[in-house]
Formats: sequence, structure tokens, C-alpha cells
Amino acid sequence: MTIESSSGSLTALNILEDLVKIQSVNPHYGDGAAGEGGVADYVARRLGGLPGVRVTRQPVLPGRDNVIVELRVGKPDRALLFEAHMDTVSLGSMDDPLTPVYRDGRLYARGACDTKGSLAGMIHAIETCARRPDLAGGDLVLLAAVDEEHAYRGILAFLELGMPLAGAVIGEPTELGIVAASKGCARFAVHTHGRAAHTSVPHEGDSAIYQMMQVLRFIRERVEPQLALKRDPRVGSPTIAVGTIRGGKQINIVPESCTIEVDRRLIPGELPDVVLAEFERELQAYAAGECGGALKVSVERLLLDWALDTPGDAAVVSAARRAAAALGLPGEVLGVPYGSDASKLAHFQGVPSIVYGPGSIAQAHSREEWVSVAQVEQAAAFYTQLAQTFGRFAK
Ligand SMILES: [Zn+2]
Repeated sequence: MTIESSSGSLTALNILEDLVKIQSVNPHYGDGAAGEGGVADYVARRLGGLPGVRVTRQPVLPGRDNVIVELRVGKPDRALLFEAHMDTVSLGSMDDPLTPVYRDGRLYARGACDTKGSLAGMIHAIETCARRPDLAGGDLVLLAAVDEEHAYRGILAFLELGMPLAGAVIGEPTELGIVAASKGCARFAVHTHGRAAHTSVPHEGDSAIYQMMQVLRFIRERVEPQLALKRDPRVGSPTIAVGTIRGGKQINIVPESCTIEVDRRLIPGELPDVVLAEFERELQAYAAGECGGALKVSVERLLLDWALDTPGDAAVVSAARRAAAALGLPGEVLGVPYGSDASKLAHFQGVPSIVYGPGSIAQAHSREEWVSVAQVEQAAAFYTQLAQTFGRFAK
């Protein structure tokens, strides 16, 4: 038996239209960013009135609350978490970013793909199950989270609650693939330390920019070839990329400092703090050895995230495959290179987690963000089906 929705999956699309009209740019992305407040109000208002549903707002940052929606059906040991973030990246140069525009079976708007299409489907699933709680296979929790697009403070605040969960599905664009593995990351800065001098007598100084050339050579010639040798069958090889470089104060001064920011992506089995410590140790050895001590360097940790490595036989994976099959959806279990809130749930709380949602990561953050209308409807049906199926696989 499957959960039927009288209003059909059209409802998920209506919810998505409502969501994209509410600007919710992460405040990290500068002036004019409204933050998640409007979307949080919408979710709380929409689901707060349903029978048996309890809505809580969890303050995370000023004016920025997580919204936690609980539909308890007396099966807390089989609680399934739905999670989607409410923030988006900046509006960028999209034409009409806050107006849902339909073209060629797609809905164009900022956040349509990342990740309001998923959030709409999850809201729809909670509404459907609230009308038929007898069909929910376990307790259901929806977390509409803040700050995924910057520092993950929404999911981290939620984890502090220690709510018991048997599984989780994170809504991000996966084109309806069941993602059980993803890369983690270690983001850090490398600083070189020189000595300032007037550029009329450059030999009296020590250029931090020239020192940084050695660091870049180390990354390209030592680290990159090592990483190419490692490989995970689901997510591929680890990578390293230098995203920014800053150095020097003005044209006639030998620069005393230079900084690069580095993003090292990890595969399952690599731990971010271990990777970072190894990088630093090898760089210091390179500085003392090949560079003969002429390279004075320090490493500063910026952000660490864990790889996702959910076992193929976890209840949430089995239930997801069954739910997809029941709906005639692809249901392929796969790995992706980008991170999500799933890794935090899995790492800190040991909750077996998958990522699933409509749309492609290629459209997320892009100038022309869009999501497939059909996939929004299919994802909504999948979440609803999973809410029912999961209880049979958990425990
Ligand atoms: Zn996202």
C-alpha cells in the first residue's frame, strides 16, 4: 500500500513556487541578503497548523532559526529525519531570480535546484503523512536548516540537541540518485613570512611572494601526483586546489607576507584533521629540506568536513532503493564529489544518511539556476514513499 495524496504532486510544485519567491540569500553573501527568516516563517506557518505536528524554532544566529517539525506516531526508535537548507547563494546576475519562470519543463529561479526543490518535496511529504499518520512507518522529523551555504551552523546547532534518529535523508540536487558517499574537505590557509624592504634595495628584504612560489611548486609537483594515485570507486580521487592568493602592500615594498587559501577534497577513509596535519608536516619538511630553511611558512585551519561513507546495507539505503523501485524511479546508489549536511549527521551522531533530491548540482549556484519540474514531483513522491517504507527496514 502506498500513501496517496489527494491533491497530487502538484502541491510540491506550488510549495516550490512559494519558496523561491521568498529571498533567502545567506547573509555571508553580502548586502541585500535577507537570510532564512522568511522561509522559516513560511515552513512554520504552513506545517504548524497540521494535526499531530509540532513545530519548534531553534535560534541559531540572530534572526536565523532552524525550523524543526516533528510528526510523532509512537515509533521514536524508527525516527527518520528529512533535512534541507533554507539559504541560497547570492542572486548573482540571474534575470528575475525571485520569480518562478517555467520553460521547457523546467522551473527557473534562484534556489529552485539548491535546494528549495527538495525542501518543497519534504514539506509535501510531511503534509501527506500528517493526513495519514497510520501509514508513516516511523516518527518523522523535518529540519529546515540555516547556513548550509556558508559554515553549516544550522545542522551543527541541531546536532547539539542529540535527537535520536535511525536514519536521515538530506535534500540536495542528486538528479534522483541515492547518494551514500561524498567527498569531505580540509580548507586551510598557507602563510609565508618574509621581511619588508624598499624595492630600490630588494636584496635587503625577503619576498614572501617568492617564498609562496615554493609552496605552489610543492602543491603542484609533490601533492597532486600523490593524490592522483588514490581512488575511491564511488567518488574518484582526492583533489587539491588553490582558490585565492594575496600578498604585498604596495608596488615599492618587498612583500613581507603572502597567503593562499587551499581546498583539499577528501575521499572516504581520509580524515580531515589527519590530512591537514600530514600536509603541514610534509610542507615543513620540504621547507627545511629542499628549500634549505629559506621558506618560512605556517598553516592555518579554516574549515573541516568529513567524507560521507554510508554502508550499502544501511536501513536508509535499503528503504530508499525500495521506495524508488515502488515508484519506478532509477534508485541508483552512487557517490558525488560535493559535500552536504549529511556528513555532519553521520560523523557527529552516527546517523546513517543519504542525499537525495531533484535537479543537478551543475545547475546549483549557476547563473541560470533551474530544476526539472518532473523531478520535483518525483522527489516529493519519493520522500513520501520513503516515510512509509523506512519503518520496515529500521531495527
Ligand atoms: Zn545545497
